[in-house]
Amino acid sequence: MESVKLAYGNDSFVVREGLYAGVPALSGTGACRLFAEFQRNFYPDSQIHLPDPTWPNHHNIWRQAQIPVKTFHYYDPYTKGLDFDALINDVKNAPDSSFFLLHPCAHNPTGVDPTEEQWREISYQFKVKNHFPFFDMAYQGFSSGDLDKDAAALQIFVEDGHLVGLAQSFAKNMGLFGHKVGCLSILTRDIKQAAAVKSQLQHIAHSMYSSPPIHGILLVTMILSDPTMKEQWKKELKIMANRIRAMRATLRRNLENLDSSLNWEHITNQVGMFCFSGLTPDQVRSLEKLFHIYTSPDARISMAGVTPSNVNYLANAIHQVTR
Ligand code: PLP
Repeated sequence: MESVKLAYGNDSFVVREGLYAGVPALSGTGACRLFAEFQRNFYPDSQIHLPDPTWPNHHNIWRQAQIPVKTFHYYDPYTKGLDFDALINDVKNAPDSSFFLLHPCAHNPTGVDPTEEQWREISYQFKVKNHFPFFDMAYQGFSSGDLDKDAAALQIFVEDGHLVGLAQSFAKNMGLFGHKVGCLSILTRDIKQAAAVKSQLQHIAHSMYSSPPIHGILLVTMILSDPTMKEQWKKELKIMANRIRAMRATLRRNLENLDSSLNWEHITNQVGMFCFSGLTPDQVRSLEKLFHIYTSPDARISMAGVTPSNVNYLANAIHQVTR
């Protein structure tokens, strides 16, 4: 309940009127997997449309659930930003009533989020096509440092009357990675449907892992239910998001001060935990070999690991391998 309030808003009609089926899940991964199983059970002929690129495990999760995976355009490697026109085209060209996975904030791996205006257009086009939006929100608070702002995309869809699915994770924003605390919620037309969907989700979860471990859930519930603790958590989350933003600015400035001939604006344009650096596979290998700096193979740098004491070393290394 507290988790759902955090996403849809304290005063949301969804919460007030109980128009959702919400169950605890094994963090973001488990919430996605549970939804994929639900999808297979009740929409056996459906597919899932994933952004290109996306968190690679999305592909595994839906494949394991035997749901065919399609991708839709998202990132433009040329601008290192959103390929909005291509995205909208894919939304328009997908069969009616398709399932789409969306990252509501701090897109992993690109750090590229649509603007509010773009989200409104996406929501409108989803309405026209009767698509089902499934939001995977693994980083609420990481985009802007503000939990409400980061839930804006989700809330736009809800205001527009979509029934949405939502995976929430407390792995990053509460630092509870090992506890696997998350939530899956699905909006429903009425409370009768909410009860029915919830019982089906519980039934599926029961055959996979019975019930989730309780300690992490109790921690999250305690923090979210206590106004003082909740405020303190929000402040700490903001500090952390600002720290990442400051590291982005320093990394970009250092590269520019080294007279790099390349454009590094995307480092500060992107948001969230990751910098989708745009380095080539050869440059990634050189970073590893010459500087012992390890990114993911797609050249995604975890900005959470960049600190005042290593940012100069990182900038210099990137400069050396890209000059
Ligand atoms: N969804 C996205 C987009 C992610 O980036 C991640 C984590 O890397 C997850 C889900 C998984 O979250 P969790 O660690 O809570 O299972």
